[in-house]
Amino acid sequence: MAELLKGKPVVDSMALDLRARIEALGRAKVVPALALVRVGQRPDDLSYERTARKRAESLGIAIRPYELDEFAPQAAIEAAIHEVNRDENVHGCLLFRPLPSFVDESHMCELLDPKKDIDGITLASLASVFTDGHAGYPPATAAACIQLLDHYQVPLQGKHVVVVGRSLVVGKPVSMMLLRRNASVTICHSKTENLADIMRSADVVICATGRARTFGAQFFGPGQTVLDVGINFDTQGNLCGDVDFAEVEPVVAAITPVPGGIGTVTTSVTMAHTVAAAEAALAARTGRR
Ligand code: NAP
Repeated sequence: MAELLKGKPVVDSMALDLRARIEALGRAKVVPALALVRVGQRPDDLSYERTARKRAESLGIAIRPYELDEFAPQAAIEAAIHEVNRDENVHGCLLFRPLPSFVDESHMCELLDPKKDIDGITLASLASVFTDGHAGYPPATAAACIQLLDHYQVPLQGKHVVVVGRSLVVGKPVSMMLLRRNASVTICHSKTENLADIMRSADVVICATGRARTFGAQFFGPGQTVLDVGINFDTQGNLCGDVDFAEVEPVVAAITPVPGGIGTVTTSVTMAHTVAAAEAALAARTGRR
């Protein structure tokens, strides 16, 4: 039986650290605050917003909701982001995406001040991921993968990690972050040939494809650690990952569940980035005095 790499212990250990840091900020009269900019009422966004609100509340992080109508003009979304940028009491911002198709999403992402970009949506944040720079923060899901691997002390240095998926939200940034940990990284995608052979050759496999239960036992081997980033629904409407858990769990050494794995850690990473942004803002303010 594989070790189950649950998100909850990671979340609990992060909470201990975050509560201490939030208390320290409180002594300086700073309450970390996260803006949630949502356009429309997509069920995925509403569900993530509920989770984020609960997690923030449990830690002592304030939520600043910006709720816009699904037909809100681009200027209204721009105004909300400008307001977030201007407000010294808001430290992080989560812009729910995808935005409606008539909105220029890349333009909206670029409007956000990188100092408040706690989910790696600006080019400055992404450049930092690739150059080991310090502007902004990496995408929360990519950072959650690293957080979970660190928590369970999965060795990365010199190990072969296969990342399946090459999006800017997960696959590419997590690959760069793994490279920084001296892993040897292979990035695979929908055109990769001999995918099963490549995946079986890895020490660690990270699946981020958004294809429900696509990777069965033939893609994996003994001794491997598997991170399943996918959040999908099967034909019966059940939440599931990219990996066929029932088939793969008996084969590998360790695996994350869906739900209860990477997704739950992602929410805490969003909070951790907000706290870090509040600390950075305080340091910049007191440094100027
Ligand atoms: P995405 O932008 O659609 O990218 C999917 C990637 O997977 C693409 O690079 C695609 O290859 C590759 N791919 C698709 N089918 C494949 C196959 N059969 N074999 C190999 N590669 C394949 O998706 P994303 O935004 O990265 O999200 C991926 C998954 O993670 C989704 O289920 C999403 O819901 C989930 N997610 C979870 C969290 C969390 O907190 N846990 C956060 C964000 C996303 P091509 O580039 O060749 O098309």
